[in-house]
Amino acid sequence: MTRAPGHRATCSTASIALITLLLLGGVLLSRAPASGAPSHAPSVVWHPTRPHIGSLAWMYVRGVGERAVVEGAVAGRPVVFFAYGDGRAALVGVDLDQKPGALPWTVAITEPDAEPRSAHGVVDVQRHDYPVQRLTLPEKMVNLDPETERRAGQEAERLRTLYRTISGERLWHGRFTHPLGARSPGTNFGSRRIINGQPRMPHGGADYAAPEGTVVVAANAGRVALVAEFFFPGRLVAIDHGLGLYTLYFHLARTSVADGERVERGQPIGAVGATGRATGPHLHFAVQVGPARVDPASLLALGLTE
Ligand SMILES: [Zn+2]
Repeated sequence: MTRAPGHRATCSTASIALITLLLLGGVLLSRAPASGAPSHAPSVVWHPTRPHIGSLAWMYVRGVGERAVVEGAVAGRPVVFFAYGDGRAALVGVDLDQKPGALPWTVAITEPDAEPRSAHGVVDVQRHDYPVQRLTLPEKMVNLDPETERRAGQEAERLRTLYRTISGERLWHGRFTHPLGARSPGTNFGSRRIINGQPRMPHGGADYAAPEGTVVVAANAGRVALVAEFFFPGRLVAIDHGLGLYTLYFHLARTSVADGERVERGQPIGAVGATGRATGPHLHFAVQVGPARVDPASLLALGLTE
């Protein structure tokens, strides 16, 4: 059963059978649940109901027992559920380059001593127009010599490999905090960059101007997955929050954490700088959910409270 895109959708194999029978004028079929299994169909709610491209959304599957195994996919890509409220939740990153329109999703629930249940529907992804940003940079920072080009390529691949690494444990909880304690939503997320007249990759993070040396803190609890000095990002820290969620902090003047270290929300991890390709001191803060690049503002506004 599929309801209007973006709306609360619930269904299960049992309810499809039930509705089919009702439509055929049959009698009300009551399928007695096995002991311990919830008697109602799973309810799947999207937050927000209509996410836009380049944003973070979450699915909430309610009415699921503690021992249930919940699996799901969005547009064929698996999502990872974690215990939340009276069921499970999963973060869904809608990548910057995602086409707007209907994205199909599925959820399957298996519980001991109960019939498997499933739900499916579509979520209506909204378009979002990001600004076009024209930059003029010194030619030596744009037209790389072959060795630097190779280095930058390897570094980008190393980051992509990191984002594909999904640690099985959820390390973050509650609200995410701004890495500079600022209230500003940041600038330039999603900007289609034209550098010295040439179109480039869209800008995958938000920039926050701040004086050199301003303390940068971890947005939430996690494990430091990478501390490095890369050509474009400069000195950087990547934090793995578990289940495929990463936050990235670029252009740092210095770092104060080590690879593999556990960090808490609000813990200092470094200081604002202008390392790598930066026109001045600022923090480039980025959020990845697997391969999806999402606006950090949507992470900071995330309505998950546990
Ligand atoms: Zn940036």
